[in-house]
Amino acid sequence: MKVLIIGAGIIGAACARTMSRRGIDVTILERGSAVGATSSAGEGNLLLSDKAPGPELALATYSLDLWRRLPAALADEIGNFTSIEFEAKGGLVVATSAEESAGLAQLAEAQRGAGVEARLLSVDETLELEPDVTPSMIAAVHYPQDAQVQPTIATEALLASARAAGARVLVDTLVTGSRRDASGRVVGLTTNRGDFDADHVVVAAGPWSGEVATRLGGTLDVGPRKGWLLVTTPMAHRIAHKVYDANYVGAVQSDGGERQFATVLESTAAGTVLIGSSRENVGFDADADVAAWGAIAARAVRLMPALRDAAIMRAYCGFRPFSRDHLPVIGADRDVAGLWYAAGHEGAGIGLAPGTAELLTALLLGAPTDIPAEPFSSLRPSLARAA
Ligand SMILES: Cc1cc2nc3c(=O)[nH]c(=O)nc-3n(C[C@H](O)[C@H](O)[C@H](O)COP(=O)(O)OP(=O)(O)OC[C@H]3O[C@@H](n4cnc5c(N)ncnc54)[C@H](O)[C@@H]3O)c2cc1C
Repeated sequence: MKVLIIGAGIIGAACARTMSRRGIDVTILERGSAVGATSSAGEGNLLLSDKAPGPELALATYSLDLWRRLPAALADEIGNFTSIEFEAKGGLVVATSAEESAGLAQLAEAQRGAGVEARLLSVDETLELEPDVTPSMIAAVHYPQDAQVQPTIATEALLASARAAGARVLVDTLVTGSRRDASGRVVGLTTNRGDFDADHVVVAAGPWSGEVATRLGGTLDVGPRKGWLLVTTPMAHRIAHKVYDANYVGAVQSDGGERQFATVLESTAAGTVLIGSSRENVGFDADADVAAWGAIAARAVRLMPALRDAAIMRAYCGFRPFSRDHLPVIGADRDVAGLWYAAGHEGAGIGLAPGTAELLTALLLGAPTDIPAEPFSSLRPSLARAA
């Protein structure tokens, strides 16, 4: 079986690795450089804590289990590669108002029912785990399963593993359209570097996936949701967990085009602290935005006053691949045979990549899936457009 994957971000890389290791002949077509877009513009959190019970939590749990096994598996597959910095450091979600605290306790209870470890902490217990969290906090929940990776290195490692299993990665290759047979089935792609044949085509083009689907004659409603991050200079002070404020879950699930802020803090292996983030639906506008940086910094200092004197080394933004119902599309196009999607993972594509790759590969091969695939179908009712 010959598969063309459009996009060399973490989703295309994970799909290429899984498929080529199952004996599929895989070529990734990437218009720029590998890991040159969203997958190198985020934090690398692998979170269960921000997901309510449902299909996304099921996919996140499945994926996290795969992530845990990836460092050893990748070492076998590609040898002495730089560490992907997988760290199961746990998450700490902090509430600073009575309303946030009640919502957080309710969410944690529901998550526990779905098998997530979530322990409600007192103020003293929280400060014992993270002494620099604001003493004006009211409650917190500790999620020991939350983890992180370095997303750029992780994507490169997945690509290296895919190559070792026979996959090709062609950069500077812009996909411009599809080739069809008489029945309308996709049998290849046209690009700026010529035509390519395929039995199946997978769109893994991140926030450009909707636009790419349209070029290929398919239907997919996935576009950009911008986010800014700040990075401090390396600091002696270390944050042990990933610490975020309890309104983060609300911001993740919000739909409006209005700008949202929710604080997420984490130390990296290099000693820098990543401070996230904003969310807004403003197309691909990447202009500097001092107001957004100021708002992110002010919120971070409220959650962790010790950051007041931190020096910001840089700010960068990326575009989360946004799907209207906050679930990725993993499966076939609703009409066009041979056209598949692995897209729309919004702010969780790093975390969800390994499970996405397993699901899509099983669907392509007509094999049973480890978790139900229907909730991610392009035919699901929550994607139907209002007439
Ligand atoms: C600020 C921010 C913070 C984030 N934090 C986290 C986090 O902590 N944890 C987490 O799990 N996720 C996080 N995310 C989300 C995560 O980064 C994305 O969900 C994920 O990277 C999407 O990967 P992708 O492979 O789908 O897209 P991308 O990495 O964007 O890859 C798509 C590729 O397709 C290529 N392409 C597009 N059109 C064409 C074409 N016509 N022809 C050929 N190639 C094409 C692009 O050049 C690009 O390289 C964050 C995102 C942002 C912006």
